[in-house]
Amino acid sequence: MNIAIIGGGPAGFAAAITLARKKYNVTILEKNSSVLKKLLLTGNGKCNYFNNVQRVDKYHSSSDIKNIITKENIDKVNNFWNELGIIPIVKNGYFYPFSESSSSMKSALVNMALSLGVNIVVDREIIGIDEINGKVKVTAKSVSEIYDKVIIATGSLAYPKTGSTGFGYEVAKRYGINVVDVNPSLVQLITDTGMESKWKGIRSHVKVKYKNHIEEGEIQLTDYGVSGICVFNISRDISINLRNSKIETIEINFVPWVLSDLKEFLDERNKLLTNRDITELCDAFINYKLLFAICSKLKIDTNKTWDGLSGDEKNKLCNNLTNMQVRVVGTKGYDFAQVCSGGIDLHDLDSNLASKNNPNLYFVGEVLDLDGDCGGYNLTIAILSGILVGDAIC
Ligand SMILES: Cc1cc2nc3c(=O)[nH]c(=O)nc-3n(C[C@H](O)[C@H](O)[C@H](O)COP(=O)(O)OP(=O)(O)OC[C@H]3O[C@@H](n4cnc5c(N)ncnc54)[C@H](O)[C@@H]3O)c2cc1C
Repeated sequence: MNIAIIGGGPAGFAAAITLARKKYNVTILEKNSSVLKKLLLTGNGKCNYFNNVQRVDKYHSSSDIKNIITKENIDKVNNFWNELGIIPIVKNGYFYPFSESSSSMKSALVNMALSLGVNIVVDREIIGIDEINGKVKVTAKSVSEIYDKVIIATGSLAYPKTGSTGFGYEVAKRYGINVVDVNPSLVQLITDTGMESKWKGIRSHVKVKYKNHIEEGEIQLTDYGVSGICVFNISRDISINLRNSKIETIEINFVPWVLSDLKEFLDERNKLLTNRDITELCDAFINYKLLFAICSKLKIDTNKTWDGLSGDEKNKLCNNLTNMQVRVVGTKGYDFAQVCSGGIDLHDLDSNLASKNNPNLYFVGEVLDLDGDCGGYNLTIAILSGILVGDAIC
């Protein structure tokens, strides 16, 4: 049986390796001049490929995914990397290769695929997929080939520099497969606080809240808005809701370690550290540039002492430090998004991720309506879906 995999990303490689182990003739067709371009960028070049914490709520889809995100399946992903010879280093549950270099992951995938006889063709952009007499015709600009089965592993619309164009969605639509609304996810947010030029460059440990979703971690304040893992993890829903609204609001708590009342805390601190101006009073826990930016917005004189502030000024300052209401007016979009929410509707695929309309056509990886939080979950989806399709084809 001849099988073509369109797209040489992690999902395509996982499918190729699983199928080649079963001695099928497998060809990866990749439009770029090299494979696994996006993988090289992951985890800031270190590749966070897996996570110790595995729960269904780390993954998102408009379909029920309880039968996909099972312990047995997640173990398959871990075993897959182990069988490729990856030695992990685990930091706070996040898995990286011990080399802390994503190029190790690329080498492991490419070397295993080549050693199993997978044919890897680069500079081959596929522009057409057609059903012909129970087989599938795969068309590139200069050549057409017939395969028994085709696996679409072309990724989403996120980070187009790495080759994603949304081709998989076009194929799906042609075959009557629903594509759930696609939106950038795990993406930076654009805000309009008026403080951006003043707070740019600051990193701070915060709690950030959007509706009922709370994330804690390091926020990066930038000249356009906010970034960082905690922001990425709330960006999914914001990005979807911004389709229908111009503004969404998030809340930032810059002092998440203050468990009771910040005003009482500052009253006590003021007794301990007498006669300090408010920047000195807060210096040990708030970046002075951020405090200046907040005070400037609130028109509070930073030369004043805590006792010199009016009750209203104290309340406003405390509210902004514990519960700053930040208007989000956009995201940085597909160009900067790590993944997309939405994609190929799992309702229109069978349990083996084959099209219900055409059993010779499969979909794997980010093209699916299945995405994860930051933390290795998206590569887990890529590898898992590749393995599932590889296991299913016989
Ligand atoms: C900056 C960044 C950092 C990230 N960090 C992490 C991380 O640390 N951990 C994590 O789990 N996830 C991370 N991700 C997400 C992760 O990289 C993706 O979820 C994963 O690569 C998806 O794999 P895929 O194989 O489905 O798609 P891709 O990796 O996008 O591969 C799809 C391939 O298909 C090719 N292709 C597209 N159209 C065609 C066509 N018509 N013909 C032929 N070939 C085609 C593309 O060129 C590409 O090579 C990150 C993403 C980015 C952008």
